[in-house]
Amino acid sequence: MMDKQSRIRILPRNLINQIAAGEVIVRPASVAKELVENAIDAGAKQISLEVSPDVRDLSVTDDGCGMTPGEAPLSLLRHATSKVSSLEDIVNVQTRGFRGEALASIAAVSRLILTTRTPERDAATRVTVEGGELVKTESTGAPTGTSVAIRQLFFNTPARLKFMRRPATELKRLLQVVTQQALSHPDIGFTLVGKKKLLELPMGQSLKDRLRQVLGSSVEDQLLPLDSGNLPVTIHGFIAKPEAGRRDRSGQYFFVNRRPISNRILTVTFEQAYRGLMMSGRYPVGAVFVFLDPEEVDVNVHPTKEEVRFRDERKVGGILNRVVSESLRKANLVPYTRLPEAGEERGAGTGSPGTQKQTMPGFFSSPGAAMRESFKQKSRVPSRQEETGLFREWPGHPISGEKHPPSSSRLPRPLEEIPTVPTPSPVPETADEFRASLEKAEPLGQIANTFIVASCGDALLLIDQHAAHERIVYEKIRDRKSELVIQNLLLPIEFEVEVSRVPDMEELSKRLSEFGLEVERFGGQSFVVRSVPADLAETDPTELIKEILESPDVDLKNLGESEVRNEIIRRMACHGAIRAGQRLSREEMTALILELKNTRLAFTCPHGRPTMILMTKSQLDRQFKRVL
Ligand code: ADP
Ligand code: MG
Repeated sequence: MMDKQSRIRILPRNLINQIAAGEVIVRPASVAKELVENAIDAGAKQISLEVSPDVRDLSVTDDGCGMTPGEAPLSLLRHATSKVSSLEDIVNVQTRGFRGEALASIAAVSRLILTTRTPERDAATRVTVEGGELVKTESTGAPTGTSVAIRQLFFNTPARLKFMRRPATELKRLLQVVTQQALSHPDIGFTLVGKKKLLELPMGQSLKDRLRQVLGSSVEDQLLPLDSGNLPVTIHGFIAKPEAGRRDRSGQYFFVNRRPISNRILTVTFEQAYRGLMMSGRYPVGAVFVFLDPEEVDVNVHPTKEEVRFRDERKVGGILNRVVSESLRKANLVPYTRLPEAGEERGAGTGSPGTQKQTMPGFFSSPGAAMRESFKQKSRVPSRQEETGLFREWPGHPISGEKHPPSSSRLPRPLEEIPTVPTPSPVPETADEFRASLEKAEPLGQIANTFIVASCGDALLLIDQHAAHERIVYEKIRDRKSELVIQNLLLPIEFEVEVSRVPDMEELSKRLSEFGLEVERFGGQSFVVRSVPADLAETDPTELIKEILESPDVDLKNLGESEVRNEIIRRMACHGAIRAGQRLSREEMTALILELKNTRLAFTCPHGRPTMILMTKSQLDRQFKRVL
């Protein structure tokens, strides 16, 4: 047997680099992430990526500060970094990369050509490395900045190569990584070219414009600002109205100190704030930027720094919840019907680059600046007032309708028919403004005894009578401002449950009494209902009780008190609300609209379905081709 000493060997440098790469460089997207981060750190204004169809060749070109002939080969060595010189730096790091091993790791698992030039020099340096081995260093001509070209990623690490997914999947991940970076730096221009142009984001965009372009036309007019004000934990960004929800989380972007990250608390809290505003199975959309003292964040949980942990998760979650809820509560969330127009492109992808308008100065201009500023509590962040200009744009709002300029020359029509200057019908922006306009709503009738048709200012308002009433009854039961009116039943109603559910039913009856539903065990599997709340006098209480008992949300053992309570109220509201198919008098309709107006969250029923839809006059104008 060999002695222990002789079995210990120093690993070849290449192997060390490959092992390090195994942690950080797991797929083409990780290469893109590291190279884009380096370009951002180098102060680039424009970053261009090109990717081959198999996603194994990738080049990233920037117009940043570049490297000198001396620095260029050094940058490819492990632990070569210009960004950290002391341990303290690591804690306070404000640039993105700081381990100084990304380039070395990428070079170890690919053929890499680095071309770079500083503005002071006439010639560029080109360094070629294959599988971590320096092949040559030469002088060449190139513009200022840096270009890193990767060829045949993982050519010498077959195990890694095997782990690569289909090119389409890898490309999707890569696109996602670049999009995250592009959102945290709307001032930097980004292009990503594969078989075709995948991303083209002009430099100097505002966050809002960039987000619109990234999320596509479906959120065009759906973005609400987040603004926590200056707290030790500052939150900014934009969230989309519930209507723009998606079937997955692909529209959610979280950043901590401007770094794209994932964090469970943020995701959970964000989604919680949309509860009751969104149908189940839908996920809210938004870009949330959290700024806080770096000491409060642990970014080294994950080798690629995607996952972070907060020292005080509850605090950060609490602030996010408050900020998002507030933004949603203040907003006018009534869905506007949007009529598809000829040639209109809908849905995902990148919007047209023609949407660039205002830029938001300060906040998103120089890397790290906003973050530093926000600690100093000096707020270079635009205040809400400064920004409101950005939100005065509505679909079909003639002012923002550059796409539809009134063209009097195209269609010959009687003069008086052509509105030369389209009169902007003021579209309420906030929930309060919308409420005020509801006060003037006039019911005109019902459709299919299900939808109330009303005029509202010069807009057409459609109300789902059941959903709307459900919202009203729900809040009435929940907030119970007035005394609970209980109706004792002259003849108690008897019902039975399965033997196995008897204990649950007994438990449930304790909860139900709080709502005026007195239920008592009658022996065996039998129970009786002795009283009901007046709101439910017209309905069969046993049906409601059984429904609550069967509801998967009323797992009495595993659910929090408030969740059970909420579900009970939701079910009661559903039973107590007027049904679809019920004929309503004009007075009843007026009363319903007024009551709806006074609810806290008028726009959706407790399950997240919309209670009303609005069609503005300008939309009608457009649909009838009165304005082109
Ligand atoms: P880190 O970014 O953690 O410092 P990297 O391996 O990613 O480590 O990069 C090593 C060094 O190479 C950087 O610190 C920087 O000085 C230099 N560098 C890398 N990419 C660029 C670039 N695109 N422009 C200018 N310098 C760069
Ligand atoms: Mg780096």
